[in-house]
Amino acid sequence: MLTFYPGPAKVYPEVRDYLTMAYDEGILSIPHRSDRFVQLSKSLVTLLRKQLNIPQDYYIYFVSSATECWEIIAQSLTLQKSYHLYNGAFGEKWMEYAKKIKPKVEGQKFDINEELPVSSLDLSDDTELICITQNETSNGTQIKETTILNLFNRYRDKLIAVDATSSMAGVALKYIKADIWFASVQKCFGLPAGLGIMVCSPRTIFRAKEIKEKGHYNSLVTLYERMLNYQTTNTPNVLNLYLLHKVLENRAAIKIIDQTLVKRAQDLYNFFEPFTNFTLLITNPDVRSGTVVALTASEKVIDEIKRNALRNNIMLGNGYGTWAKTSFRIANFPQHTEDEFDILKSFFLSFYS
Ligand SMILES: *Cc1c(COP(=O)(O)O)cnc(C)c1O
Repeated sequence: MLTFYPGPAKVYPEVRDYLTMAYDEGILSIPHRSDRFVQLSKSLVTLLRKQLNIPQDYYIYFVSSATECWEIIAQSLTLQKSYHLYNGAFGEKWMEYAKKIKPKVEGQKFDINEELPVSSLDLSDDTELICITQNETSNGTQIKETTILNLFNRYRDKLIAVDATSSMAGVALKYIKADIWFASVQKCFGLPAGLGIMVCSPRTIFRAKEIKEKGHYNSLVTLYERMLNYQTTNTPNVLNLYLLHKVLENRAAIKIIDQTLVKRAQDLYNFFEPFTNFTLLITNPDVRSGTVVALTASEKVIDEIKRNALRNNIMLGNGYGTWAKTSFRIANFPQHTEDEFDILKSFFLSFYS
């Protein structure tokens, strides 16, 4: 069965061997305060920097999920409120989670075919943090590098947090243009779920130390203190950290991966354009995602396509949120091969063209 689910997504086939290696190397039972763990963690931080082009002065933390990052950010980096710009289910969920922690949280929804409305924003002085979703997995839109740059230039006094769950490790992100970036590994990293990566600018840590929030096991200041010795606050997912190390060691540079995915996404958009039973959900090419392609049709048609695909050993991603029943999604992640997309395309050509 081929899976194009955008998360949990296909894992790298090499993971099968890495699992055995992890067992044989005895890594699964190491204490997380041991030298061996510290070596693994330290080496992984170096490797992440190198393979994802994360600036030397940015901090990297291991947590359990992107959802956890939503909470860490609200707890540890805002006294009053964050402001959320969203056009889909994940961005909106993030705002809802933040609101439960800081009731003054505000946000604004923008259209799925529009760019993030940077120039029309009017944020209050007590807004401490701006939250955006770089790649909205629910509808297949993405925010361009230049847009993030405009936001950064317009609001230099505020922290910018970016949910990059379905783009980190697939897109060559410019980490320097925002403060907090986070993802979980079951999307573009090609790994099983259960590990989150959080990347923070120096001024993020400065701010966290000012606020000094320490009421949670994963308060940012505590994460910072533990990570000074390459350790975590709780017993971490050592297996996934090991797998992440293995996968990153054997991966191409992010620039190359980015180029490959952009090209493949363009090819997919061109491929799907002529079909008439269903259409591309996002009509504005400028905001289309390079890692998640969304297609839309009536509920009945979508249901038939997904079932037919399953009969042909292809699992398409279900729609999500507003588009749960009227769309399907296709992940274009680094772990997918050209051959898989050829099979996918022949399926659509033989049944729907
Ligand atoms: C998948 C996803 C999440 C949630 O990830 P978890 O690992 O389940 O916490 C959050 N944001 C986006 C954009 C996602 O795609």
